[in-house]
Order: sequence, then structure tokens, then C-alpha cells
Amino acid sequence: MIKSSSTNEISAIDKKHVIHPTTNPYLHAKQGPKAVFAKGSGVNVIDAEGRSFMDGVSMLWNVNTGHGQKELAAAAYEQMAEIAYGSQFYGFTNKPAAQLAEKLAALAPGSLDSVFFTSGGSESNDTAFKLARFYWQQHGYSQKNKIISLQRGYHGVTVSAQRATGIDAFRNFSGSKDPDILNAKAHLTECELGDRSHPDYKGCIRSIIEKEGADRVAAVILEPVQGAGGVHLPPEGYVEAVRALCDEHNVLMIADEVICGFGRTGEMFGMNHWNVTPDLMCIAKGITSGYAQLGGVLISEKVNKVIVQYDNVLAHGFTYSGHPTACAVGLKNIEIIERDGLVARAKEMGDELKKGLQYLQDKHRCVAKPRNLGLLAGFDLMKDPEASLPFHDSVKAANTLVEECFDRNLIIRPFDFEEGMNIVAIAPPLVITKQEMENMITIIDEALTAVSSKWE
Ligand code: PMP
Repeated sequence: MIKSSSTNEISAIDKKHVIHPTTNPYLHAKQGPKAVFAKGSGVNVIDAEGRSFMDGVSMLWNVNTGHGQKELAAAAYEQMAEIAYGSQFYGFTNKPAAQLAEKLAALAPGSLDSVFFTSGGSESNDTAFKLARFYWQQHGYSQKNKIISLQRGYHGVTVSAQRATGIDAFRNFSGSKDPDILNAKAHLTECELGDRSHPDYKGCIRSIIEKEGADRVAAVILEPVQGAGGVHLPPEGYVEAVRALCDEHNVLMIADEVICGFGRTGEMFGMNHWNVTPDLMCIAKGITSGYAQLGGVLISEKVNKVIVQYDNVLAHGFTYSGHPTACAVGLKNIEIIERDGLVARAKEMGDELKKGLQYLQDKHRCVAKPRNLGLLAGFDLMKDPEASLPFHDSVKAANTLVEECFDRNLIIRPFDFEEGMNIVAIAPPLVITKQEMENMITIIDEALTAVSSKWE
């Protein structure tokens, strides 16, 4: 049993013993945790003192089916009571892992019919990079190793995923390097559509492939909609153009669906919006709605054909690849998504969210570039959107707004990792109701009114 302790005791223990991910350790050691989450129900999380918050970002964009889904708890309990764990190494398997693989093959676009299981998104992306390089090695191209990724893309924190991430602080943390990752050089712009006179042409994937040489480039990785880089939607025709470009140059296309997968954008997978099938597709987060740690790389027939001809040990694998409990939770979670029509619901509620963001933009001069695809949304805060004038960094606009919302019991997320950047992200659980959506917009509206008058 977890000992019963007061919130103050938990905070003191945490402050003393826990190093937190993506947190300022100096401030944390002084201030301790911001909240001690204890319970959840639907779109709400409740802290140890009983204070309820609306979770406007599904925690880390992962709690797709919402908090307090007892069916997922039961699926975990029942599976765990059967067997602690069953390895997938040396050709062993277990029932939920095999069944989940079959389900994923049925759901995924095109011939993405096999899966390599991992425990999360970073592991999935590193696995995809390795498989892409392995694929070309098997074809005799031992130098086709480089990976192209996009500025403001986020792919995780393992060494290769970190280097593919287009956010400087993450990419450079502790100086860890993977020399074959091209450090998130490509821009997300319409120049990919083929205009060589575009001012950004040097930064476009086509020109990077040409510069490096197609015989050196293994794969391009991109998110259908960039998440942690500040919620950036691709220009029209972009995803299709990248697919065509990869085909033209014999480069694999990796879709990082870690946020977009499992209904978040109003389709089961982000790629479905453009009818594009990548060669490798990375999944995590929403596959279990955060109730268990699970990820995977979905592998197309083209890549799989090469893998299954390899008559040696595939020397890659995580202890928790295909963990039976996580896979049982994944299966039940997908059952809930399908049974409760949560993909269609994300689309419908996404339309409500679009209206809400439009309302905020119409009412508040500082709200700019509202955008969403289903329930993945963001907007900018600017001093003068018409003149493209950002707030001075000292204003900390995104951060102040998010803090004000927190004080009003709504959790949303700020992104301000570049000079002049003030982006706010919203991604509620897919179970959100129209009324809850209205409440969320009302809170942001009131918070904006309270803080924006103080911004210069
Ligand atoms: N890819 C994307 C698009 C993500 O948003 C994240 C996590 N936010 C990751 C990869 C990394 O996943 P994880 O934290 O599970 O390793």
C-alpha cells in the first residue's frame, strides 16, 4: 500500500528526492511540486487536497479517453493477475501483444501491418531510425544513414530522438550527439511543394537531400501536426509532397504519430487527413491513453519484407517491448475509442474548439493565429498581430496566461522556447462535452481579460 501522507509531506519528500523531467530543478528544489495529482474523472484531475482542475491538455497530450476509465483499470488488473510479464525476446510472445499487433495492422493506413513494440515515443523514434538505417544496409547502402527532421519538430529525448528534435534546449542538452541526425534543419514551409526560387529553399527537405546526396539519406521524420514545437499545421499539400519527394529520392518517410495517433486530430491517425502512408509510423501516448507505458513502430510491407529476410538476431529490443499489461490496456483503450465514437467526437468537438478560439481572437487583440486539427489546438499571443509584433520576452505572455488559467482551475500549456514566441496549446481529452468546451473557453477568456491589460 502507498502510505497515507499529507500533501505537505508528499511535497517535502518530492522536493528532496525527485528530479523532475522538463522542470527547472533549481526552482523545484526551492518551491516543491506545483500540484500533487491524486484522482481524475473525464476531463478533470483532482489534487490531493481535493481541488479539481480541467485538464485542457490531456496531461501530456496522452489521456485521450479521459481520466478515471475504470475499464482500463480492470483490463490491467485482469491481465496482471494472469502473468507478471512475458518477454518478446528470443521469439516468445503473449496473447495481448499479438492481438494488439493484429488490431493495429487493421487500423493503420496502407500496408503498415507489423509492429515493433516499445515503451514510449522516444524509443519508437530511435527504433524507427535504426530500422531505416538497417533497411538500407540490407540493400547494400551502408552509408545511407542520415535522418532529416524539421525545425520545431519534437521527437523525444533519447540521444537520436533528441538530435532530431527542433527545439534547441532539448537537442543540445548535455551535448549528446548522433552525427547522422541532421539536427532538425528543415523548415515546415510550402517551399517543399517544389518552388526552387522560394526564399526558404535552402532549408527545404528537397534541397537538403540534394546537398547531402540521396545515397546518404535514410529517412525523413515529421509529425502530421507538430505538437511540442507549438502546434504547427503543415501547409496544404505539404505531407503529400514529402511523400512524393521520399519516393523520388529513395528515402524512407517516418511519421511521428506519438501525439496525433488514436483520434486526437479527428482521424484515427494524423496521416489519414492526407491519405498518406509512411514507411514507418511511430506511436505511443494515446495508444493506452496514458494508463500504461506503451509505444511502437508500425512497419510497412516494403520494410517488413527486408526485415523478415534477415537470417540473424535483430539486435534491438526493450525489456518492456510488448508488455502484456500495457498491451491489454492498449486493446481495451482502442475498444473504448471505437465503441464510444471518440474519433468522430474529436472532430465534432474540434469544430467547437475552432469557434471558441475564433471568439477569443475576435475579442482579444493579442490572440493571433488560432489553429487546430480536431482536438489539437494552439494560438499565439502577440503585442500587435497585424504588425507581426511580438511581446517583449520579459512580459512572459504565454506563461502568465497559463498561470492565470491554472489559478482558475484550468491546465493548458505555454511554449516560449524561442525569442518572441508565446504560444498556448490546448488538447483536451476526446471525451470533452460541448458544455465543458464552453467552460474552458470562458476560463481562457476571463484569464485573458485579467492579464492582457497589464501587458505592454
Ligand atoms: N514524439 C512526439 C511527437 C512527442 O510529442 C513526444 C512526447 N511529447 C515524443 C515523441 C516522445 O515520447 P516519450 O516522451 O513517450 O518518449
